[in-house]
Amino acid sequence: MNSHGKWKVVIGLEVHVQLNTKSKLFCGCSNESLGKPNSRCCPICIGLPGSLPLPNKSAIEKSALFGIAVNSKINKSVQFSRKNYFYPDLPKGFQTSQFSLPICEGGEIKYLHDNMEKTVQLTRAHLEEDAGKLIHSVQDSATHIDLNRCGTPLLEIVSEPDLRSASEAKAYLTQLKQQIQYLEISNCDMEKGQLRCDANVSIRKNDSDEFGTRAEIKNVNSFKFVEKAINLEINRQIDILENGGKIKQCTLQYDDKADSISVLRLKEDAHDYRYFPCPDLPPVFIDDKIIKKLNDNCPEKPIEKVKRFQKDYKLSLSDSERICQESNFANYFENLIIKIGDVKKSKNILLGDISKLLKDKNISINELPISIDDISKLLNFQNNGSLSVSNFKKAFILKAESNNPLSTILEKNNLLNDDTHSLADIVIEVADANPSELLRYQSGEEKLKGFFMGQIMRKTQGKANPAELVKLIEALKTHSN
Ligand SMILES: [Zn+2]
Repeated sequence: MNSHGKWKVVIGLEVHVQLNTKSKLFCGCSNESLGKPNSRCCPICIGLPGSLPLPNKSAIEKSALFGIAVNSKINKSVQFSRKNYFYPDLPKGFQTSQFSLPICEGGEIKYLHDNMEKTVQLTRAHLEEDAGKLIHSVQDSATHIDLNRCGTPLLEIVSEPDLRSASEAKAYLTQLKQQIQYLEISNCDMEKGQLRCDANVSIRKNDSDEFGTRAEIKNVNSFKFVEKAINLEINRQIDILENGGKIKQCTLQYDDKADSISVLRLKEDAHDYRYFPCPDLPPVFIDDKIIKKLNDNCPEKPIEKVKRFQKDYKLSLSDSERICQESNFANYFENLIIKIGDVKKSKNILLGDISKLLKDKNISINELPISIDDISKLLNFQNNGSLSVSNFKKAFILKAESNNPLSTILEKNNLLNDDTHSLADIVIEVADANPSELLRYQSGEEKLKGFFMGQIMRKTQGKANPAELVKLIEALKTHSN
């Protein structure tokens, strides 16, 4: 927990998430982040006069699905508005966004922080188009413009100022990202700018109810940096106030290389964006049928899955959180349990050999190059004693590297001990070949166990599984010729 003495910290976050629709928000241009600069734009997304936008149904549904998952009120009539400002990467001079009728109002995200469940209330989540990108080139001392990103759909998720420390902010963002990934509405690749975060930070005296003046840290692209930047800003504000100064409303930027924040611009007045309903876009209606369909398809929340796995599978909180980090990974775990019928073994192989392989190959669970059937077979061999722990690992890796059937791999590399069936046969053969020793053993001479053990080990060239062998020799006590 962060402690800031007599100061109470107040943080609200604005998160921009790029939705993973096929096309952009108001035109048919591709929403993939591929292609040469300015190769994915058309008169609509660069806002040429006379072009007419058409809302993307999938972007609206994905936004509404988010709202349903976080218990927002979904507005049935959604209005797009123009937010007027000029910036070189927004050549049309306005951004189409939502103002008085956003798609989602209210809602909440529950998250775990220091093993405690906390809640952040959401103000709203609205749909808007992104702007282009300016590329400042050192080579030719010029600024280039790439409009490919113009018109890509963003869901802006605004939280209430409910967060009280930088680490709470990080925990909330982690949960929010996980929730979005569970819904499969964005890839949330922060390096590609698919999830960006602005943080509003203010402090006030512990005994004061009045909000302090806030400063906004813009566009931080990793959760670790958000945490660092917020802590720097809290300390900056405490320093100013404790030295008798005043906080000025401002926009800040975080420099991750120098681990420092600096004031980008002071805000003398709040911007007047002169919002007005977009005359080219009539209200979009979201009917009950769509809401019902989205509701029916809304997956379990990640935090609920974590709790369920703890309860149903008796997992520790940390194991459950690890497994539920990705919904596909969590689904795979439940499929493994069904296939193998053993929770502990499923957990061990998933967090052990499987996780290691995914990490080494830098792939996701969906790309795991070994089938659940083959994993189950390998575990069966291990259970009945014919595959040692080290050979299990070998077989697992070999199968992941090869398209040959598992049986061929096991045979070619001589990984299986003689299987239990034939081991049982050998035990009987040895017993039958030594009738007098068998009789003495059966009448109670326990030391003959060692005799049989030695005989069988010789015959199997030491490959018999000792535990299995002891069981089989025990069973000889009731064996009759
Ligand atoms: Zn376009």
